[in-house]
Amino acid sequence: MFIQVKLLNGFQESLIYKIPASWPIEQLVGSLVKVPLQKRTESALIQQVLPTLPADITFKIREAISLEQFPSDAHFSAYTQQLSSYYALEPLYFFKRIRHFLSEKEQELDIDQTNQAASQQNITLTSEQQSIVDDLIPVINSPRYYPTLIHGVTGSGKTEIYKQLIQETLKTQKTVLLLLPEVSLAVQFTKLLKSQLGLEIPIYGFHSAVSAKEKRALWTSLMHQKPVVIIGVHLPVIMPIAQLGLIIIDEEHDIGYQEKKHPKINTREAALMRAQLAHIPIILGSATPSIHSLYCVEKRNWKFFQLKNRFAGAFPKIKLVKLTEEYKRKNFWISRPLEQAIADRLTKKEQIIIFLNRRGFSFFIQCKSCGHIESCPACSVSLTVHHNQELKCHYCNFSKKIIITCPVCKAGEDQLLKKGIGTQQIVTILEKLFPHARIARADLDATVNKKKWQEIIHNFEEKKIDILVGTQTITKGYHFPGVTLVGILWADINLSFPVYNAAESTLQQLIQVAGRAGRQTAESEVIVQTMINHYIYDYLNEVNYTQFYKHELKHRAEVAYPPIIRFAEIELKHSDPVLLDQESNDIIQNLELIAEKNQLNITILGPAQPPVHKIQHMHARKIYIKSPDISQILKAYNHIIIKNYTSFLYFTPNPLQ
Ligand code: ADP
Ligand code: ZN
Repeated sequence: MFIQVKLLNGFQESLIYKIPASWPIEQLVGSLVKVPLQKRTESALIQQVLPTLPADITFKIREAISLEQFPSDAHFSAYTQQLSSYYALEPLYFFKRIRHFLSEKEQELDIDQTNQAASQQNITLTSEQQSIVDDLIPVINSPRYYPTLIHGVTGSGKTEIYKQLIQETLKTQKTVLLLLPEVSLAVQFTKLLKSQLGLEIPIYGFHSAVSAKEKRALWTSLMHQKPVVIIGVHLPVIMPIAQLGLIIIDEEHDIGYQEKKHPKINTREAALMRAQLAHIPIILGSATPSIHSLYCVEKRNWKFFQLKNRFAGAFPKIKLVKLTEEYKRKNFWISRPLEQAIADRLTKKEQIIIFLNRRGFSFFIQCKSCGHIESCPACSVSLTVHHNQELKCHYCNFSKKIIITCPVCKAGEDQLLKKGIGTQQIVTILEKLFPHARIARADLDATVNKKKWQEIIHNFEEKKIDILVGTQTITKGYHFPGVTLVGILWADINLSFPVYNAAESTLQQLIQVAGRAGRQTAESEVIVQTMINHYIYDYLNEVNYTQFYKHELKHRAEVAYPPIIRFAEIELKHSDPVLLDQESNDIIQNLELIAEKNQLNITILGPAQPPVHKIQHMHARKIYIKSPDISQILKAYNHIIIKNYTSFLYFTPNPLQ
């Protein structure tokens, strides 16, 4: 018998080895083996068992050396089974993901991994912080499922609590998972903890910006059941871990915890399942907790703590400016109050953040004569203007030269309105208004070039930049002590998104970005510009956040949306829209039949055309299922015979947008 293997070191070709006589032949596929290669020994993954050698093999086949073990984890099989049935996946899915990273090739990483020198000692926790630590230490020492929500205002010192609890857990010889909603945050946190907790504590970053070598080093630690700290986004929660003692989910409200691609696994939900199965405490922290978590505090007895004060600094003053009151502005995007505030801060040599959420359909080109909007030939979205010379699609990267006449009515360039706004235009406007200010841009384009991004952040920290213009990438985690003014240009840009959690996620983001102001100073200000009125503006002051929960929950109850009921999504994709519509309707009919036959309490909505309903020539439709009970939704979905359809089907049990 022979095995066909793939080396973990990234070598492309598959290799063939002979199986030693003593090995079992069952369940070899997917196992890790050690094999000889020239004079070395390499790790490899078994892809196939071959009873005979392929005919074209003429060279001598060597024998494999030994089988490698999977890290032991008593709960792992139950956990992956539960996760896969919740997400309607085959259980092997998770093993494949793990194997995938194990066979990952080493790639160039340009993220700066060096440790900060400044190490902090002798922290004395405040009494608010200490009481949380005191509550959790007994649970860490004799573990049980213990979900704890920490609502700590921005800058209240949640990290200090995490640090204490991490150390307590390691003392019990157990591993800690620390999860963050974004790779850049995971990188920052890893740096911070490595510099502050000292070298004797084994801390591993585990995400896409970590080298394959470091990931394999973590794997080795897990194999040896060493207690470690693992910091990451999505991957850590699906790892086998023998002695898991604590899970911490920071920024727990963040929709970044939902994976971007199908299957859209929500790491926050997965972590809760895992903590429950492993009988361990789990801590969810945020300045703007999710409506869902606050609901669990109310209905499911989650432990709840609040840190109501900032450790240093004070809360900023919040000012709402209506852009529709035109007399207030010389320039459409920078209202007079904002312009004056910027001028004032510049004279005081203080720093300013200007925030624009570009996720909306901004920045497109429209003909003033006939209303034509230039859009992507492959996707149903408008093209965005780049550097005033190029039109680009945000979904498929299609690009073409900017148009100078309207393709429909032939109107000239003077009739072409570049609608909306992007960070580049904001920088241009600010440069005109404040020719002496040092202005920089930090948006998604800049994060593609990570070195440049870090340079900008560094220069801003060093006060070599006065005004930083950015998108959602600057909202999270950063601590810029010199910032005393935050301007939010178009606060309502996402409120009109047709998703049930639009108000929640918009408010969370506004509070997070507002929280960048006044981290170290007594007096600071946030100016929020908006086109419309909305109830979220009553809660911009983060101290009132839990009041928002009450308002929003009432609203969700009226329209029957989560967390009051369960809400799942089936996404269908096909290149042929006619077939897609037929199949979508057929699935809806089927679901209705299944519900009737099995007396399921479900409501089916759709098929709906999502706002972006065509990406790279693939059309999409969405079907939603509502029910008081997720198991009824799963029962209905599992009755659908997927192979009867030519469309791709994706199931998300708790979609967030
Ligand atoms: P959060 O994550 O809640 O927004 P951080 O944990 O970043 O806040 O804390 C804000 C700042 O306050 C950090 O610089 C942190 O080091 C400092 N800090 C918090 N608690 C303490 C403490 N007990 N002693 C000294 N410094 C603290
Ligand atoms: Zn496109």
